[in-house]
Order: sequence, then C-alpha cells, then structure tokens
Amino acid sequence: MNDCVFCGIAAGKIPSKKIFEDDEIFAFHDIDPKAPTHFLVIPKRHIENLMECGAEDEALLGKLLVKAQETAKDLGCGESGARFVINCKSGAGQTVGHLHIHVLGGRELKWPPG
Ligand code: AMP
Ligand code: ZN
Repeated sequence: MNDCVFCGIAAGKIPSKKIFEDDEIFAFHDIDPKAPTHFLVIPKRHIENLMECGAEDEALLGKLLVKAQETAKDLGCGESGARFVINCKSGAGQTVGHLHIHVLGGRELKWPPG
C-alpha cells in the first residue's frame, strides 16, 4: 500500500465522510470545505493528476464527471449550480497527488478564482 491519503480513503483505511462508492470511483466530503457544499470525486485507482491520463482513461473520466454532477444535484445544487474543479500539479494548487474533482456549491462563486 502506498502512502497516498486518497488511496487510503478509497480503500476504507482512512476515515472519510463518504457520499458514494462503486468498484471504480469514490465520493466524499472535503475535510476543509470552501463552500457549504464541497465534496471530492476520485478514481479508486491511483492516478497522480489529469495530465497523466490518456485515451484508455476516457470512460473513467466520463464516469467521474457524470457522478460529480449527479451528486451535486442530489445535494441540492441543481437549481443554483456548482463549480467542478480539477487542480493539476502544484502550480495550479494541487496539494494531494491523486486525481480528484472538486465540486463546490451552496454559495455564490466568483470568477475568475484567485
Ligand atoms: P487540491 O488542493 O486540489 O489537491 O485539493 C485537495 C483537497 O483535499 C483539499 O480541499 C483538502 O481540504 C482535501 N483533503 C485533504 N485531506 C483530506 C481528507 N483526509 N479527507 C477529505 N478531504 C481531504
Ligand atoms: Zn492515490
């Protein structure tokens, strides 16, 4: 087992506030929420970041996005909207090296982000 915190969460070895899981993906609330709704959707398989993905990952990436927006609607963001963010590498703000989609909602979100 590697020391990746999100691999640990996906495997159930590190506690999280789980929203959803299946054999390939896992969704859970962010530990330090930046909005009233802030959750993460991850692949269970360790992928460092989006730029590591290729054509073989197209189905998985699509599944992550579909589940992200379905869950946003389930959590009450269907009318007001939500922001879907993938920080890729440290220069873009990625702090956990396991691909994750942030979903933020429940308040007005400014654009562009800082
Ligand atoms: P990023 O900066 O895009 O890599 O986002 C990483 C996110 O993971 C941050 O919003 C953190 O608050 C969140 N995070 C880090 N550790 C945990 C954890 N153990 N459980 C839930 N969220 C976490
Ligand atoms: Zn990982």
